[in-house]
Amino acid sequence: MGRFANNTTYHGNNRLDKAIGIYGGTFDPIHVGHIGAASDVQQALQLGEVRMVLSARPPHRQQPILSAAERFGLLQLALQDHALLKADNTEIKRQGPSYMVDTLIELRQQSPNSPLLLILGAEAFNGFMSWHRWQDILQLAHIVITNRAGYSDQLGDQLSAYIEPFISHDKSQLKQQTHGKIYQQVVTVQDVSATEIRQRLKARELVAQMLPDRVRESISHHGFYR
Ligand code: ATP
Repeated sequence: MGRFANNTTYHGNNRLDKAIGIYGGTFDPIHVGHIGAASDVQQALQLGEVRMVLSARPPHRQQPILSAAERFGLLQLALQDHALLKADNTEIKRQGPSYMVDTLIELRQQSPNSPLLLILGAEAFNGFMSWHRWQDILQLAHIVITNRAGYSDQLGDQLSAYIEPFISHDKSQLKQQTHGKIYQQVVTVQDVSATEIRQRLKARELVAQMLPDRVRESISHHGFYR
C-alpha cells in the first residue's frame, strides 16, 4: 500500500504508527473527571499517548474565566504524574476560534501514519453536527465516545443516523485504520464538572476530591475563581 495518502485500510497493525488519543477541553479548570476518562481510554485502547488539547478560544460556549495561559499552567501541573497524558498547546499557538478540525489537520500532518482517536463524552458528541466542518472530522480521526455521570448516552436522531455506517464494536479496527471509525468506550464514572468546581470555589466550599492536589494548591495560591 506504500505511503499514506487517502488510503485508510491497512491489513495488520505493523504499517501504522502508535495510536494517539486527542482529548479536547476548555479545562477551566482540568479536573479528575477529565484525567480519569483520558487515562481509562488510554489503557483500554493501549494508546501510545493522549494529547490533552486545551481549547484556547472555545467557539461554542461561554468564554472561560481563566486565561488560556493560566488554564494551560494548571493542565501541566495536573499531568505531571501521568506520563502518557500530554498537555497540548496547539490551539493556544493558533489565532482565532479553536476549531477541533484545524487541530486534527495539524496533528494529522505531524503524524500521517498514526491512528488519531478523538475522545469525547457523550454529551459533547451530541453537539457534533454544530461543529465547524464536522463532516471532515472522520476523514481525519476516529471518534471514541465515553459515558459521563449525570448525562444520558442517548444521541439525537439525526446524529444517530449519520454515525450508523461508521460505528465499530471491534477496537482492533481502530489500530488498522488511521481514521473513520466510531467506537464507544465505557470509563469509570466521576460525577464532577468544571462548572460545579468554579461555583464551589466561588462559594469557598470544599473541592478536595474533584481536583488533583497540585491543581487545587495552585488555584488556592493564586486565588482563582473567587
Ligand atoms: P464546564 O463545566 O466548564 O462546561 P466540563 O467539566 O464539562 O466543563 P470541559 O473542559 O468542557 O469540561 O471538557 C470537555 C470534555 O471533557 C468533554 O468531552 C466532556 O465530555 C469531558 N468531561 C468533562 N467532565 C467529565 C467527567 N466528569 N467525566 C467524563 N468526561 C468528562
